[in-house]
Amino acid sequence: MTLNYLSFMNLSLKRRIYLDNNATTKPRSSALEGVKKALKSWGNPSSTHQNASQSKALLWSARENLSSFLNCHPLEIIFTSGASESNNHAIKALFQNLETQSHRQELILSAVEHPSVLTTGDFLKKQGKTVHYIPVSRKGFLDEDFLEKHLSDKTLLVSIMKANNETGILFPIEKWIQKAHEKGALFHSDMVQALGKEKIDLKKLGIDLASFSGHKFYSLQGCGLLYCKKGIHLDQFIHGGSQERKRRAGTENLVGITAFGEVAKEGEFIITESKRLRFLRNHMEKTLLSSLDNIEVIGQEAPRLSNTSCLLIKGIPAAESLMMNLDLKGISISVGSACHSGKLESNTVLTSMGLTTKESLNCIRISLGLENTKEEIDYFTKTILSSIQYLRNLD
Ligand code: PLP
Repeated sequence: MTLNYLSFMNLSLKRRIYLDNNATTKPRSSALEGVKKALKSWGNPSSTHQNASQSKALLWSARENLSSFLNCHPLEIIFTSGASESNNHAIKALFQNLETQSHRQELILSAVEHPSVLTTGDFLKKQGKTVHYIPVSRKGFLDEDFLEKHLSDKTLLVSIMKANNETGILFPIEKWIQKAHEKGALFHSDMVQALGKEKIDLKKLGIDLASFSGHKFYSLQGCGLLYCKKGIHLDQFIHGGSQERKRRAGTENLVGITAFGEVAKEGEFIITESKRLRFLRNHMEKTLLSSLDNIEVIGQEAPRLSNTSCLLIKGIPAAESLMMNLDLKGISISVGSACHSGKLESNTVLTSMGLTTKESLNCIRISLGLENTKEEIDYFTKTILSSIQYLRNLD
C-alpha cells in the first residue's frame, strides 16, 4: 500500500477520521438545537419575573429528559460543570459530612479510576482518611478478594467506575453496590464512559451517587451532572445561592444543560448504534491481530465497551510517533502517555494494571463514535498497518 494510494483514499473520504470519542464527542445536531433554544432564553432561571419563566421551563425539561433516560427522579439530578466536578462533589461532600468521631472514615477506589477520583482520594488521605485501592489485573479484572477483605463497617464509600476511559473495560458494579449496602457503606460510580454505550437504569442499580458528563455523550463541554439518590445528604459543595436545591450554587449553564437534555431524548437510538460500533471495532481488531505480530488488545478477555480499543504495539519507538504519523494522514487517535517538559510520562491506568512503563508508552487508544462508518474504519485499519510497518522498520 503506497502513501499516494492512502492519501487518495483519504481525500475521497473528504474529512478527518475522528477516533478519539472517549476524549470528547462531536455534538449532535440535537445538541445544537438545544443551544439555539437556550440562547433565545437568556433570563436567569432563579428570577421570578416573566423573562425567567422560559429559562426555568427549559431547565426543568432538560432535567426530565435526562431523568427519564437514566430512570431516576428529576430532583435527584444536580447539574455541574462536568464529571470532574461531580466526582469531587460526590466524594468530598460525603467525607465533609463526617463527624470526626465517626467510625466510617474509609474510602475504597479502584486503582484505575479517572484522575478526578484518584486525586480526590489523595486529598482525603492528606486529611487523615484511609483509602484502599482495589488492584486490577493485566487482563482487566478487579481483585474482588481485595474488595471483599477491605469492605467493612469502617467503609463510608466505595467508588468504582462503570467503564474505564483508557481500556473500555467494564466493572461489575451491580454486584458490589449490593455488597457495599450490606455493610452499610454508600456506593458512587463514575459512569461517564458508559453513558450512551450501555443501558443505564439508576433505580434498578440502586446506586447512591453517579457522575456523568455532557461532552462524552454528543453534547457540550463544561456541563455534567451528579445523580444523588433521594435521602442521601450532601453538603453544599459550591457555596452561594440556593440553585440545585442548595447543593451547587451558581447560575445554571442553561446552554449546556439544554443541549445535554436534548441529546438524552435520542439516548435509546445512541445505545442501539453501539452494536454497530462493536462490530466495526471487533473487525478492526481482528484484522490487525491477524495481519501483524506483537500487537495485544488490552483487556480483550474482559467485558468491554463497544467502542474502545486499547492496543499495545511492540517494536515501534513510542505510541506518540504512531499517533503523529496517523495525524498527518488525517486520523485522530489518542495515546495515554503525556509529554511533560519534553519527557514522556507513562499512563497510570495501564501501569497499575501491571504493564511496564515501556509497554504503557507503546499503547494507543482508539475510540469510535456515532459518525464513524465502515469505510472509515477500513481506511484506518489499512493506514495503521502501513504506519506500524514503517515505524518498525525505523526502530
Ligand atoms: N471520568 C472519566 C471516566 C472521564 O473519561 C472523564 C473525561 O475524560 C472525566 C471523568 C472528566 O469529565 P469532565 O471532562 O466532564 O470533567
